[in-house]
Amino acid sequence: MKSDLTLKTITEPSREINVYHEADVIVVGGGPGGHSAAVAAARNGARTILVERYGHLGGMATGGLVILIPHMSDGSKEQQIAGLCQEWLDRLEKIPGGMVGPKREEIGSTDPAVLARWKNHFSTVVDGKIRLTWTVDPEMLKCIMNDMVEEAGVKLSLHSWGTQAIVDKGRVQGIIFESKSGRQAILGKIIIDGTGDGDLLPSAGAEFDGAIDPKLRSSMLALVFRVGNCDFKKYNEFREKDPKKAQELMGELGKAAGTFFLPIAGHRDDVVWMNNWIPGLSSTNVEDLTKLEVSVRKMMRTGFAFMRKNIPGFENSFILDTASQTGTRGSRRLVGEYIVTGDDMNSGKKHDDTIAVIPKIGPPGDNPHVHIPYRALVPAKTEGLLVAGRSFSSDKFANDMLNLIPHCCAMGEAAGTAAALAIKHGISPRKLDYRLLQNTLLKQGAALPGVELD
Ligand SMILES: Cc1cc2nc3c(=O)[nH]c(=O)nc-3n(C[C@H](O)[C@H](O)[C@H](O)COP(=O)(O)OP(=O)(O)OC[C@H]3O[C@@H](n4cnc5c(N)ncnc54)[C@H](O)[C@@H]3O)c2cc1C
Repeated sequence: MKSDLTLKTITEPSREINVYHEADVIVVGGGPGGHSAAVAAARNGARTILVERYGHLGGMATGGLVILIPHMSDGSKEQQIAGLCQEWLDRLEKIPGGMVGPKREEIGSTDPAVLARWKNHFSTVVDGKIRLTWTVDPEMLKCIMNDMVEEAGVKLSLHSWGTQAIVDKGRVQGIIFESKSGRQAILGKIIIDGTGDGDLLPSAGAEFDGAIDPKLRSSMLALVFRVGNCDFKKYNEFREKDPKKAQELMGELGKAAGTFFLPIAGHRDDVVWMNNWIPGLSSTNVEDLTKLEVSVRKMMRTGFAFMRKNIPGFENSFILDTASQTGTRGSRRLVGEYIVTGDDMNSGKKHDDTIAVIPKIGPPGDNPHVHIPYRALVPAKTEGLLVAGRSFSSDKFANDMLNLIPHCCAMGEAAGTAAALAIKHGISPRKLDYRLLQNTLLKQGAALPGVELD
C-alpha cells in the first residue's frame, strides 16, 4: 500500500555535513545481532563504533520485551549456541533476579523431577528433554549489554538513527546518521548492518528481498506488554487441572482482544509477557507501524479486561508496561553469496564455512540442526558490508524460523569477528579465509558442534 505522500516528490538540496567519527568497523543497530557484532569486532582489535537509534541496547530482547532466549541446545547434553549469547546469561546469572532457566547440569535431562520443574517454562521441555532456554529481566539485560560494549572499548552512539550508507565505486565507506546533533557522517572500513530491517541495504546498493508473506511469522508485527501482580502458579495449576477449559478461555481471550494473545512466564512468578501478533504488516512501512501501535493498545485493553475477569491467576493483575519498541520479526533479507533456504533447514545441509549451528525449534527428527554459512552474511555484490541478525541472506521460510535471539547473536558474533579479521589482514570480508574465522570463533567460545579447531 502506498501512502498518498509518496505520490509527490521534492528534491533535497545537497549539503556538506560534519564527519563525526572515523572507525575500522561501524555497526548500525544494537540488538542481539548488532551488539554481538560490535563486541566481537572490538575484542578482535578493530576500532569499532555502535550506532543505535534508541537510548538502550538489546532491540527486541529488551525494548521489544521479547524476554525469552530459547533453544540454545537441542535436548541433548550438548550446547549448539554459546559465545556472546551465553555470556549475557553468565552475567545475568550473577544478578539476583536477572534471569531464570534450567541449570547447566539439567540440560538434556529426562529426569521426571527436572521436567516437572521446568514444564511451564516456555520452550524448555521439548520431546521430553530439557533445552537451554532462559527468561531474562530486560532492564538488567540493557545494563549488562552496556557493560560488554564499554569493556570491549566500543564507542557507543545512542539516540542515533542510521539513515544511509556512503558508497563509492561499489564499496561502502561509511554511514550517515541523524540525531539531536543533526545529520552527520561516520567513515569506516567495514559497515555491519545490524538494524534487523536491513535499513542500510537499499542505499548500500546491496540486493535484498523485502517481500513479506502474510502467512508467515515474519509479517506479524506486535506490541508486547507485560502483566504484573499475577499468580502464574495458580494459572498453571488451573491449566493442568482443566486443560480443555483453559484452551477454551484462550480462544475467548483471542476473540475479546481481536488478536492472538499468549501469556508467557516472565522472569518472576508474578510477571508474564504477552506475546501477540497482527499479520500482514510491514516493519518498514510507517503507516503499518502506526496502525499496529494504535490497534494493539486497543486490543490490550479489551483483552486484559477479559483476563482479569475470567482467567484464574490474573484477578489482581495490572498492565506493568508496554514495549517501547514495536515487535518486528522479519523484514528485508540480504541477497548474499549464499541464500539459506527452507530446504536447507529441513535437510540439515552442512557447509564448509558454517558459522552458526542452530537447533531446530520442534522435535529434532533426523536433521536436528540448521547450519548457517558465513556466505549468508556477505552481500552478493556490494563490498565493505556485512549483515548481523535477522536480515541474513535467507528465503522467507528459512528466515521465518532462524531469527531467534540466540541465532542473531551467533550470526552477529561471526560478522563482527569476520570484519575485524578482514581489516587485520587488509582484505575484503568476501575474501576472508573461513577456517581462520571458524578457529577464531571457537577460541572465543562459540559452540559450532561438528566444526573442529585446526
Ligand atoms: C512478538 C515477538 C516475539 C518473539 N518471540 C521470540 C522469542 O520468544 N525468543 C526469541 O529468541 N526470539 C523471538 N522473537 C524474534 C526475535 O526477537 C528477533 O528476531 C531478534 O531480536 C532479531 O534480532 P536483530 O538483532 O536482528 O534485530 P532487533 O532485535 O530488531 O534489533 C535491531 C536493533 O537495531 C536498532 N535499529 C533499527 N534500525 C536502526 C537504524 N536505522 N539506526 C540505528 N539503529 C537501528 C533497533 O533499535 C534495535 O536495537 C520474537 C519477535 C517478536 C516481535
